Amino acid sequence: MIKVVLFDLDDTLVDTTKLAERARRNAIENMVKHGLPVDFETAYNGLLDLINEYGSNFPHHFDYLLRRLDLKYNPKWVAAGVIGYHNTKFTQLKDVRHARKMLIQLSSMGLRLGIVTDGDPIKQWEKILRLELEDFFEHVIISDFEGVKKPHPKIYQKALKLFGVEPEDAVMVGDRLYSDIYGAKKVGMHTIWFRYGRRRSEELEYRRYADFEIEDLLEVPKIIEKLGGKGEEGSNKEVHADR
Ligand SMILES: [Mg+2]
Repeated sequence: MIKVVLFDLDDTLVDTTKLAERARRNAIENMVKHGLPVDFETAYNGLLDLINEYGSNFPHHFDYLLRRLDLKYNPKWVAAGVIGYHNTKFTQLKDVRHARKMLIQLSSMGLRLGIVTDGDPIKQWEKILRLELEDFFEHVIISDFEGVKKPHPKIYQKALKLFGVEPEDAVMVGDRLYSDIYGAKKVGMHTIWFRYGRRRSEELEYRRYADFEIEDLLEVPKIIEKLGGKGEEGSNKEVHADR
């Protein structure tokens, strides 16, 4: 019987990729607006290259962008970039379509929920708290705290141990075939691949590790009922989507 459902965070519950793209575009737009002497496309592509090379959590993107464009350092342009980026992040962070409705349904089915995510712990918590999702989850497991990243089996074993359940009692839902699906399957969990966002056609060599593929999160409760979740009692009738 399924007792626990674990979720990836980025692009599974939180619309991270769309947000990051918008935030980066707005950052560059604001820099150009405040006098950055290059055109939008040149600066934006330079920023994307930088992120590719230095990673998305690199703290000096805008300083390095100026160096890269052979421009003299100007704190005003960096500030404009920071403002454009943060304003977007603060105002446009959104949960993935149907994420909240699905979490309400799963909770009312008596399932215990958790998050297993890589990434910077403060940034990950910031997303969870801003979207007021924390009350749904019994445990939030962030790889930086555990010393192992997905898809290492250890992070999934640690999660199962925290919940005190066997792998066959748990389902992993995520958008990445490699880190979410292959990783969870290796320890014996059930897996649901959420085919969404920029990873929808990536890492397809791991597709065979997905027990189910979905394009809408509302499929998750239905699959769990089929797998023999706690939903058979009909306790999920009173679902309040406006919570
Ligand atoms: Mg993800």
